Amino acid sequence: MKIIRAKALGYCFGVRRAVEMAESELERGGSVYCYGPLIHNPDEMKKLEAKGLKILATNNTNSTNNENRNSEGTLLIRAHGVSPALEAGLRGQGFRIADATCPKVKANQLKAAEYYQAGRQVFIAGERGHAEIVGLLGYAPDAVVVGSKEELTANHANHANNTVVIKKPVLIAQTTFSTEEFDRIAQGLQACYPDLEIVNTICPATQERQNALRELCPQVEALLIAGGKSSANTQRLLDIARSSGKPAWVVENANELVESGLKMTLSGYTNIGLSAGASTPEWVTDAIEEELSR
Ligand code: SF4
Repeated sequence: MKIIRAKALGYCFGVRRAVEMAESELERGGSVYCYGPLIHNPDEMKKLEAKGLKILATNNTNSTNNENRNSEGTLLIRAHGVSPALEAGLRGQGFRIADATCPKVKANQLKAAEYYQAGRQVFIAGERGHAEIVGLLGYAPDAVVVGSKEELTANHANHANNTVVIKKPVLIAQTTFSTEEFDRIAQGLQACYPDLEIVNTICPATQERQNALRELCPQVEALLIAGGKSSANTQRLLDIARSSGKPAWVVENANELVESGLKMTLSGYTNIGLSAGASTPEWVTDAIEEELSR
């Protein structure tokens, strides 16, 4: 069996930076917390938790959980970022904040704030409820989140029919959003608002991984994506692989590859493409490849 890796896969700059920050905070000693899982990868999280990282429950809103009141220690903010109100709330509870918000997410937040403060109607192409979107909404509270072009017609009929008067509309994106869907949403919105400004804030790391996978699809019979089940960008890679018409699966680690019977299924193919989500550590992808080629 031949395994071909996508030219770009695995950890992006922002995730690597967040993991390195967590490791150096843990080395400094004292209590180190993270507001929600630092990254969407259970294997890496287990490693960090074994070193002492404690995960605080989030409520997926922009307010803090009361049970963390009067806390001490260092609290890491994830690469997805949080709203200014939530950050202030966490500081108010006594934590020292180590901000691992990815600089690209931070730039997106500041852009959203700038448009909002200028009185413009902000549209965000993204997944409602995703941590990055929850944080972004703290910077542009009246922004309209649009998940797909179809959703624009179904849930935002007033916008789709252009029955609301809005000022200087602008469209930005969740940094990990699909480029195709962003273009479709932009097209749909532009039909309603010809003066729409389109600012593609999708991260190049996301685009690189998606493009490398598209390039790989025609070269192989089936595709395997290494990544966590709750990782949005891993799921996006799976969607891209499947939309090529090739069979494709997500696997979290080498154990799951064997235990789920997927290794057996894949043994029926002579060449397999391998990609990995932006929160998948290299050691997990290596172990999957090794298991597959064994
Ligand atoms: S995908 Fe891009 S924006 Fe998101 S954490 Fe990685 S580098 Fe940052």
